Amino acid sequence: MIFENNIAFARSLDAQDSLAEMRSEFLFPEQNNKPFIYLCGNSLGLQPKVAKEVLQRQLDNWKNLAVEGWFDGQEPWMFYHKELKKLMAPIVGASPAEVCPMNTLTVNLHLLMVSFYQPKGKKYKIIMEAGAFPSDQYAIESQVRFHGFNADDAIIEVKPREGEYILRTEDIVKTIKEHGNEIALVLFGGINYFTGQWFDMQAITVAGHSIGAKVGFDLAHAAGNVPLKLHDWDVDFACWCSYKYQNSGPGGISGIFVHEKHFSDTNLHRFAGWWGYNESKRFKMEKGFIPEAGADGWQISCTQVMPMALYHESLTLFEKAGFMDALRNKSKTLTSYLFYIINEANKELGEEQYKIITPQNEEDRGAQVSIIAKANGKVIFDHLVANHVLGDWREPNVIRLSPVPMYNSFEDIYRTGELLLAVARSI
Ligand SMILES: *Cc1c(COP(=O)(O)O)cnc(C)c1O
Repeated sequence: MIFENNIAFARSLDAQDSLAEMRSEFLFPEQNNKPFIYLCGNSLGLQPKVAKEVLQRQLDNWKNLAVEGWFDGQEPWMFYHKELKKLMAPIVGASPAEVCPMNTLTVNLHLLMVSFYQPKGKKYKIIMEAGAFPSDQYAIESQVRFHGFNADDAIIEVKPREGEYILRTEDIVKTIKEHGNEIALVLFGGINYFTGQWFDMQAITVAGHSIGAKVGFDLAHAAGNVPLKLHDWDVDFACWCSYKYQNSGPGGISGIFVHEKHFSDTNLHRFAGWWGYNESKRFKMEKGFIPEAGADGWQISCTQVMPMALYHESLTLFEKAGFMDALRNKSKTLTSYLFYIINEANKELGEEQYKIITPQNEEDRGAQVSIIAKANGKVIFDHLVANHVLGDWREPNVIRLSPVPMYNSFEDIYRTGELLLAVARSI
């Protein structure tokens, strides 16, 4: 598409946008009675308007049914997660049996490592991307220590080449193969939180399996952002949070994926709890853990009804949008337009004031565009916020702007560009 740097053009794209109506499903934060242009769905998605009603409905269930709510009412809590599984599956490319909502993300990362990081002999190392989200670094570090290894030795990080920000797939694959006989687990992010790079998950999975390692992904920045095919790609396990691109609210429930080929593997360790117990016998309260079939067998504690109710409602909005296809198409155009608009600002400024570190190739990124300002990055960021554009700042120097196809418009992008130009001129 040939883009134009003017408001009429941006509005013409909005007029042709079949998802434009979805914007009205969300509440936007305001400052001095003026709504923000919200470009921070990569950190916390906006509140769907129905959220309040959904919570109220569950409060009413609690009030009216109390303990009977587990088995009675329109949505008995005991089986409520099944309603979510159906809607989560198409977002990550899995069968409903392979996914389950539970806990929060880093907790699930640990639980899945209990099952899929089982070091044996010389094969005890984990390979991951350098610069992964800190929580993942800490989780992996503590897991290798828990197994009695030294983190410096047992964790192999793949780094970008000198002077580059993006990891090259060939370098990832080469490192996996070079360390083939030492690696127990390949654990990557789907999309890196800092650069916005979407890794070639299929190539990583193939490489990991070729050396006999398990392969898992943290999809915090990928689930609900880009289309995924976890089952077909043969990924062993994955987990994600639902409060970023999936709008389930702060601290929202996490989701897990376990490939069905592992369902009957009794050699996998699990940290068990009653909610993962065979459903038909759960309330017999018997001794000896027998897991429920599928991803559900990884549950530990009883269903978190309130966070699940919020996630359910936001998943319904994905269903309304036709799940990932239309969203991804719009997302590619939105993000490409943001690239164009930033480059136009640089042209007008006569220098690369805003350096984009997110991959140029649209197949290697999701919604997020990460930029490094040539100078005064934090000052520029603060100006954006003061002028109603809310992205986010990541130390040491990155401004992340993420247009979300569910609720952002092309006009949002155009206005952000205007402001980037004005701010650079004013400081
Ligand atoms: C957002 C994010 C997290 C946050 O983890 P919580 O357990 O939900 O606090 C973890 N890992 C990655 C890669 C993230 O992007």
